[in-house]
Amino acid sequence: MSDKMAGSPALMDKIIRLARNRGFIFPGSEIYGGLQNSWDYGPLGVELKKNIKDLWWRTFVWGRPDIVGLDANIIMGTRVWEASGHLAGFNDVLVECKKCHARFRTDELIPGFAGKKASSRGLDGIACQACGTKGQFTAPTPFNTMFKTNLGPAESKDSVVYLRPETAQAMFTDFTEIMRVSRRRLPFGIAQMGKAFRNEITTGNFIFRLREFEQMEIEYFIEPPKTRKDWEKYFNHWLKEIRKWLKLVGVDSRRIKEVEVPAGERAHYSERTVDIEFQYPFGQKELYGLAYRTDYDLRAHEKHSGENLKYRDPKTGKEFTPHVIEPSLGVERTILAVLLSAYTEEQVKTAKGTAEVRVVLKLPMAIAPYKAAILPLADKPELVKVGESIRQSLGALMATDFDITQSIGKRYRRQDEIGTPYCITVDFDSLKDKKVTVRDRDSMKQIRIKIEEVADYLKERLT
Ligand SMILES: [Zn+2]
Repeated sequence: MSDKMAGSPALMDKIIRLARNRGFIFPGSEIYGGLQNSWDYGPLGVELKKNIKDLWWRTFVWGRPDIVGLDANIIMGTRVWEASGHLAGFNDVLVECKKCHARFRTDELIPGFAGKKASSRGLDGIACQACGTKGQFTAPTPFNTMFKTNLGPAESKDSVVYLRPETAQAMFTDFTEIMRVSRRRLPFGIAQMGKAFRNEITTGNFIFRLREFEQMEIEYFIEPPKTRKDWEKYFNHWLKEIRKWLKLVGVDSRRIKEVEVPAGERAHYSERTVDIEFQYPFGQKELYGLAYRTDYDLRAHEKHSGENLKYRDPKTGKEFTPHVIEPSLGVERTILAVLLSAYTEEQVKTAKGTAEVRVVLKLPMAIAPYKAAILPLADKPELVKVGESIRQSLGALMATDFDITQSIGKRYRRQDEIGTPYCITVDFDSLKDKKVTVRDRDSMKQIRIKIEEVADYLKERLT
């Protein structure tokens, strides 16, 4: 995209409109008036999202000998959240405007505000972001952002459970079981992706801050470091891995800032945290996080559960609590950063010579919803038949589109807009020479290849 457009709110509107019009992402429960901050992924959105998650899994689980996967229950025992500190400390500090009753997190009203020490006095002179009234806020009250529900038919104190607010904890509670069955040695990682839930006070900016979202997290266990260098080498390794991932998934690296989180703002257990921030049209904000969590989590669960969560070194027989490096990636923020990076407007000339704007989503092929569109030049049975046979040959290998409506130029534009890397056009010559035209989305160059070579041509370009 042009740099001029990168920071503009207009770009955000264009992305939201495109996502809606083309069936990537639209508001949930809409026939009943919608449900605040819920989004449904349509036919193209679900492909994009799944492709991003698959790419992450292939890169970090399949692609590495030192990482195995986990898919844990979303509802976990309440004692998990006692041990992790989420039950007592997973609080936002909430104030309400006395005039319009809008609610805010204190740190939204005063950036960098140390939330827990908040008093309403600190809010004197601060304007309500909804109605503009100054300094008319209720006393700050802590608000636990975990979603609460009941397990089983009886609602009682003992039946209260929570939806997980992060995917990380199961990777600690299941640590010894996974060590046992996977027979790995340190350094060693567990990867998990899946939904997490936070009852955020304020949400917004499309899919940036959600109450129901997906994470892709790795807990990477290392030996207890003797010096700073011992853990920093792994921390730096993961920083490099995140940079490589950003490139792979198609996030514009010029809009990435790595921000060292100062000691006072880090989680209390973290020795070092780097926020990977992205320049969204609404400001530079967090995309990913990388944290050195020390041995805090395993120790906390060992203490609360009474179980031995230590690692026994097979060579020395020594037992110790591993330390942890955690690269934490959000799925929806990845989608947003990818769409913002991929969206491009180009001035092109039509066949008639008039200028027009070509909208292209320059998505990497690995994550593009459709890998190819099969386009019979005209709605003629003999052409459709050839097109159908190509579609069938690709069928289970990759998602494809098949379109026989409108002019070929309009169909190309439709595919450009949703990021389809290749258009395969079947024309009348195809019936004679058994060849088709393959058009490249980004260069718009066209080549002719044999029909029987189409599948291999696309497969070679998939990774
Ligand atoms: Zn107000």
